[in-house]
Amino acid sequence: MGKEILHDNFDREHLWHPYTSTINPLPTYKVESAEGVRIHLADGTELIDGMSSWWAAIHGYNHPVINEAATKQLSKMSHVMFGGLTHEPAIELGKLLLSMAPPSMHNIFYADSGSVAVEVAMKMAVQASISRSGDHKKTNFVTILNGYHGDTWNAMSVCDPVTGMHGAFGSALPVRYFAPAPKVPFAGEWDPKDIEPLTEIIRNHKDELAALILEPIVQGAGGMRFYHPQYLREAKRLCDENGLYLIFDEIASGFWRTGKKFAWEHAGVEPDIMCIGKGLTAGYLTMSAVLTTKDVADTISNGEAGVMMHGPTFMGNPLACSIAIASLKLLESQDMASRVAHIESEIKRHIQAAASLPQVKEVRVLGSIGVIEMKEPVNVGEFQKKCVKRGIWVRPFGRNVYVMPPYIISDEDLRTLIEQMIECIK
Ligand code: PMP
Repeated sequence: MGKEILHDNFDREHLWHPYTSTINPLPTYKVESAEGVRIHLADGTELIDGMSSWWAAIHGYNHPVINEAATKQLSKMSHVMFGGLTHEPAIELGKLLLSMAPPSMHNIFYADSGSVAVEVAMKMAVQASISRSGDHKKTNFVTILNGYHGDTWNAMSVCDPVTGMHGAFGSALPVRYFAPAPKVPFAGEWDPKDIEPLTEIIRNHKDELAALILEPIVQGAGGMRFYHPQYLREAKRLCDENGLYLIFDEIASGFWRTGKKFAWEHAGVEPDIMCIGKGLTAGYLTMSAVLTTKDVADTISNGEAGVMMHGPTFMGNPLACSIAIASLKLLESQDMASRVAHIESEIKRHIQAAASLPQVKEVRVLGSIGVIEMKEPVNVGEFQKKCVKRGIWVRPFGRNVYVMPPYIISDEDLRTLIEQMIECIK
């Protein structure tokens, strides 16, 4: 018997959406088009976007400048393999990235998505660690709780074991070391006790550890927490003292989201390896990059394999590179520090109204990220129904209801977005 294909409700019956059940899926809303900060649904509903499509659409949707760059590149070639071939978009993007990245960054590996960038970064750390120490056991990782680094195998293994996906995969995942999440908030008073648990783990297990991986300053999907810059300075010192590489996952925090070009700048601490993605291609195509120092790159090249052991089919995709170049140039053409500082002050002004609600535990804002942490987990499906009725697009996660809108959002739309989000909470 042939399978029954439902055409009326195809999406619900046949398409998997992120983290959903096929038996009892969350509702989905069909999008016809999107422009600026507006998402237009097929039924005519118009939504103000508060999510930038998960941190990615930093300039809003359907941007004429990025569209033009994509069209221009399409007429030349959308893809050629990166093995043995190169092209101007990859070279120009590389130059732009190095001009924006921490000064110590020297070599760039283009990858497919954020999760793959994390895989590549972890592989780099392992290859470099074995090459540097000559010790095949110095290959494990330490990280902090409440982190999120993606959905592939190794990325999952360093996600928070509770809010992440460890429960579903059990003993299949490699076992990592976890220090408690930093407690001192971003603007709090530094307490040296905050770094003690990480110090202990690193000192006790340095012979097994290749690297420390963490999201600098902002822990995103694992808890939407903002922690103190001094934690990173201490972490860097510990890594240097104990022969660990330091990996920063700036996939969510990069490209001005926290008010700086990259979040490392809040602490002035440069990593050995850095992952970027999401906003890199402004929400147009999937692409990420892993940046590292000359020292790490040379150490890998002097190692057993003599090469970096990774090479995806779509590496350095010219279409994605051209889009990224257009997006980065748009960022460079504006005073982004002032732009994000303005968004931050507007978010703070409007979101404060949520702080006194009985359901709310805490409200916090950093750069263009505004978070309302609830006392109880939020029912995503129900909450989103209310949001759509009120003309906004917000997708909560766990106990956090949050916005990180495209940077082009007007003051009026931002006010509506936050006011309506608070109404939905009420
Ligand atoms: N790292 C961080 C910090 C992220 O926020 C994400 C995505 N939410 C990833 C890695 C994984 O990126 P992707 O979904 O593109 O694989």
